[in-house]
Amino acid sequence: RAKDEGGNTHYCYVPSLHANAEERRKLELSLRRAIGQNELELNFQPVVNARSETVVSFEALLRWNSEEHGFVSPAKFIPLAEDTRLIVPIGEWVLHEACREATRWPDDIKVAVNVSGEQLLEPMFANTVVRALADTGLAPHRLEVEVTESVFLRDGRTARQTLEEIMALGCSVALDDFGTGYSSLGYLRTLRFSTIKVDKSFVQGASQENQESLAIIRAVVAMARSLEMTTTAEGVEDADQAALIRELGCTKIQGFYFGRPMKAIEARSLVVKGRNSRAA
Ligand code: C2E
Ligand code: MG
Ligand code: MG
Ligand code: MG
Repeated sequence: RAKDEGGNTHYCYVPSLHANAEERRKLELSLRRAIGQNELELNFQPVVNARSETVVSFEALLRWNSEEHGFVSPAKFIPLAEDTRLIVPIGEWVLHEACREATRWPDDIKVAVNVSGEQLLEPMFANTVVRALADTGLAPHRLEVEVTESVFLRDGRTARQTLEEIMALGCSVALDDFGTGYSSLGYLRTLRFSTIKVDKSFVQGASQENQESLAIIRAVVAMARSLEMTTTAEGVEDADQAALIRELGCTKIQGFYFGRPMKAIEARSLVVKGRNSRAA
C-alpha cells in the first residue's frame, strides 16, 4: 500500500510505527490494571422481538473509562486485549458481571455475552461459564454466548468442542456479525446456534435500496429458518429500517432505534417499568 502512494511516504511510517508501539505498550499497561481499578463497566443494549417490539434480551457491551487515556473505544481495546490475552481475565469478569446483572431482570429476559476466540481456546473455558452461573445463580438458559465466525479460523475443532460444552450446560450460542467473516458454512451444519446475527453492514445497506443487501438478508433468514435458528438484525437505526427488517422476516432487532447500549441501572428500569406500564 505504501508503494501505491509513491514518493517518500514510507519514511513517515517509521516514526509513527514507534509511536504506535509505545502508545500500545502504555495502553496495555493501563488495561492490565483496569479491572483492579474499577475502570471497566458493562453497558446493556436491548434486543427486541421484531413483531411485538418487547425486550427479549440485552447484549452486554464492555466499556473502558481509563484514568490515563479517558474513554477508549472497544474497537481499540478489545483487539489489544485479544493480542495480549488480557481478554481471558477481562472476559471472565464480563461473564460474572453480566450474569449477576441478569439475575435482577424478569426471568424471561436473557443476557448475551461476547466471547473471543482466545477465550474459547482456553481449555477450561466451559468451567468459567459454569462458575459464573453458579456464583450468580443465573439459570443457564438465560445466558447466550456470542461468537463470530473468526473463532473457527485458528483451531476450529477446539472452538467447536467448547461451544458444544457450553450448549450442553443449557446456554445458547449466537453467531455474531454474520456475513463478514471468512469461514465456510460447514459449522452451521453441525453446531446448533440459536441465533444468527445479521451484521449491521447488510442491514444499513438494505435500507439504501441496495438489492444485493436485501437479497442476502432474505437468504440468511431463509437459511436460518430451515436450520431452526432465529435471526437478529443488528444496527437498526430508524423506523424505515425496522419496518424493512420486519418485512424480511428477521425474528429480533437490535439497534439504536430501539435503544443504545445503556448503564445497567437504566436497562434494569427499562424492563421493570416497561412491563408495569404495559400491564397497567
Ligand atoms: P458486537 O458484538 O457486534 O456488538 C454490537 C456493536 O454494534 C456495539 O458496538 C454496539 O454499540 C453497536 N451498535 C448497536 N446498535 C447499533 C446501531 O444501530 N448503529 C450502529 N452504528 N452501531 C450499533 P461496541 O459496543 O462499540 O462494541 C464493538 C465490538 O466490541 C462488539 O461488536 C464486540 O465484538 C466487541 N465487544 C464488546 N464488548 C465485548 C466483550 O465484553 N467481550 C468481547 N470479547 N468483545 C466485546
Ligand atoms: Mg455481539
Ligand atoms: Mg455484532
Ligand atoms: Mg462486532
